[in-house]
Amino acid sequence: MRLTFAIIYSVLIVLLGLFGMISRRSKKTVALPVSYLEFTFIVPIVGNLIIVLSQNELLSTIGSYTYFIGMDLMVFSLFDFTLSYCHIPWRSHRKKCYVIYAILTLDIIQYLFNPFFGQAFGMEAIMVDNAPYYRLVPHIGQIFHRIIVYIAFFTSLFIFIIKAIRVPRIYAEKYYVILFTMILASLWQSYYIFSRTPIDRSMLAFAVCAILIFYFSLFYRPFRLLDRMLANIASKIPEAVLFFDASNRCIWINNNASQLLQISTEKLDRVKHRLSAMFDDIGEGNDNWSSKQVIGSGKNAQYFTLKKHLVTDSNNKKIGSFLTILDNTPEIKKQQQEIYEATHDKLTGLFTKEHLFNVIKNRIVNDKETSYSIAYFDIKDFKMVNDIFGNTTGDNVLIRVANWIKEKAQDNWNYGRIGGDAFGLCYPTNTVRLGIVEDRLSKFVISNGTIDQHILLHVGIYHVTDPSIDVSIMFDRAHLAQKSIKNEYNMHIAIYDDKMRDQVLWSQKISAELETAIAQRQIVPYLQPIVDKNGSIIGAEALVRWIHPTEGFLPPFTFIPTFEKNGMIAEIDKYIWRCACEILSSWTDEKEKLFISVNISPKDFYFMDIYAEIKNLVDEFKLDPSRLRIEITETVMMTEAENRMAILSKFRKSGFIVEMDDFGSGYSSLNQLKDMPLDVLKIDMKFLNKAEDNHKAEIILRNVLRLSSDLGLFSLTEGVETEDQYKMLNEMGCNLFQGYYFAKPMAVADFEKLCASKA
Ligand code: C2E
Ligand code: MG
Ligand code: MG
Repeated sequence: MRLTFAIIYSVLIVLLGLFGMISRRSKKTVALPVSYLEFTFIVPIVGNLIIVLSQNELLSTIGSYTYFIGMDLMVFSLFDFTLSYCHIPWRSHRKKCYVIYAILTLDIIQYLFNPFFGQAFGMEAIMVDNAPYYRLVPHIGQIFHRIIVYIAFFTSLFIFIIKAIRVPRIYAEKYYVILFTMILASLWQSYYIFSRTPIDRSMLAFAVCAILIFYFSLFYRPFRLLDRMLANIASKIPEAVLFFDASNRCIWINNNASQLLQISTEKLDRVKHRLSAMFDDIGEGNDNWSSKQVIGSGKNAQYFTLKKHLVTDSNNKKIGSFLTILDNTPEIKKQQQEIYEATHDKLTGLFTKEHLFNVIKNRIVNDKETSYSIAYFDIKDFKMVNDIFGNTTGDNVLIRVANWIKEKAQDNWNYGRIGGDAFGLCYPTNTVRLGIVEDRLSKFVISNGTIDQHILLHVGIYHVTDPSIDVSIMFDRAHLAQKSIKNEYNMHIAIYDDKMRDQVLWSQKISAELETAIAQRQIVPYLQPIVDKNGSIIGAEALVRWIHPTEGFLPPFTFIPTFEKNGMIAEIDKYIWRCACEILSSWTDEKEKLFISVNISPKDFYFMDIYAEIKNLVDEFKLDPSRLRIEITETVMMTEAENRMAILSKFRKSGFIVEMDDFGSGYSSLNQLKDMPLDVLKIDMKFLNKAEDNHKAEIILRNVLRLSSDLGLFSLTEGVETEDQYKMLNEMGCNLFQGYYFAKPMAVADFEKLCASKA
């Protein structure tokens, strides 16, 4: 038996020595205390080995010393290790630690005195295995030793217990194992002490304790903790996660997966079935696979991204796989909402201009077989609706119109809101019968329940003849057609033709050229004589002509409408007025009595102070104001009538003669006529010539001339083309005459020659 223990002890000594050396090499903070512990645990075992092997008292006594001092060193290093392993901040407990170290040192010192005083122990011989075996006889000092060792040992034990209780259960394992062996060793050691059995078997427990300490402090990794951590991470990620083993059996799912599949985390055998029921494809047979899938449709649609990942061991052999399912519904819905908002008009819900243009472009480009048409809808006088009824009503009208378009549109039409009150539409030409649309437009009424409001929609249509042009140009063309609608109340649709485009190009060209044309005197006044009852020339009307360097002789109708529209007419008029003044001031002798009438466009009132402009001219050329006659038309009075009347009064007061041009061809208001500051009423024969019944025309003319004289106005008939007309008008009492019968408008020099020939 002694030999057996000797062998066991020797093996343990070698093992602990080895562990001690391995620990020294480790870089962990706990490594040094562990290595001390391994080495110090050797000392009492060596003591016991000596005791077991020796058969004489001296050797046994040396063994006993080694044993006891070794025990001190052992609890010493155990305590040291405990502080480090249990993360006890050594510095804050420094004093308590010093006490432990001091009493252990005292115990060692006490043993040094034992050979002299014998106060700790003595030796007695007994027979073990038929050989003398020296066993220790404890004295008082031995009790001191035991108390000290127990104190130090239980302090360590106590620290371990506290630590094991305090840490999360997952960590407690590494404390409990060491704690358990420590308790076992201490109980065994106590049994040895009190049973007085010759061989200290508890050394085995201490050695096991040292081995466990070596393993747990340097090599142990809490795999359960790792498991728990991974499971935790897998639970917290936004995806549903499902783990499968090598034979594709589901072994774990996270909470998201459990919610998604509506399966409890325990009923994993139903996972496959649920997955197949939910998704079209679950990547069966594929280990690395991904797919985007939609469940349901419309507002209830749910969007998922499924990904399957293979898990392999270090030899690249499949050990399992996991499937992640991400519910992308919120992001995709948000994206869809953003796209919707970017492509749809907020107010009407129709496509925005940009989006509509894109859709139409793709459609026309990709379908060259079908012929398409583009329609431009405009709400007539929408600005007025807004101004008079307010924006809310205006918005309401827009919504109603949008709904009307939506309602009437066929599935294969594209439409949207392309401006404030403008809507755009693209349709295959053969799907629309314009007659029906015209009829619908004429009946288009918005009703708010009690009041029906007729809304005038004007539609310009461009039949796409050239699919390669930009969609915006197609709409420009449709818009152009829409703007061409003049007879607004009976006609709602106009179709684009190339003349409209030519007109636009022409307008652009002449607008760009006007400034140079004036500077280079390409713009000139022609004069058309005005005669009195006797046929004598008493004055002339200045009528503008453009002697264009490339286009040739341009009469007013080729450019005046353009400049009336863009306001550039004011530049022409100012220039013609100046020319008229120049001419008047150049006339001497007989011609000094002649006057020139100049035309004033209604637009001029917006761009300048007409009175100041003309008055300055007359002053500059030192002319008698009555020689520069002012021709205005009825349209001038259609807006700001009072203000306009005041201006005309100012002219008259300053000695100008004011003529009402084209009387009867515009929106004549006879009521206004009585208040208007006028001198001459100019009646255009053209409007009478148009009348089918000549007799009635004569009656009107006679009455207008009488009205004129009754109002104290002079009358001037223009457009007199025949002698008969002249005689008749003369007989009717007309005062002045102008027309081809007397002379056509002519260059100034020609006019001057004509006057000279008549004189
Ligand atoms: P308006 O002021 O009523 O001018 C009379 C127009 O009748 C002139 O046409 C003249 O040539 C034409 N006319 C005169 N006698 C006869 C006739 O016996 N038979 C026919 N068929 N026509 C006759 P024009 O010169 O082509 O001018 C057309 C219009 O252009 C003018 O009508 C006037 O409204 C405008 N206009 C002409 N020059 C100016 C200008 O300098 N400034 C402005 N703002 N408008 C002008
Ligand atoms: Mg005129
Ligand atoms: Mg006229």
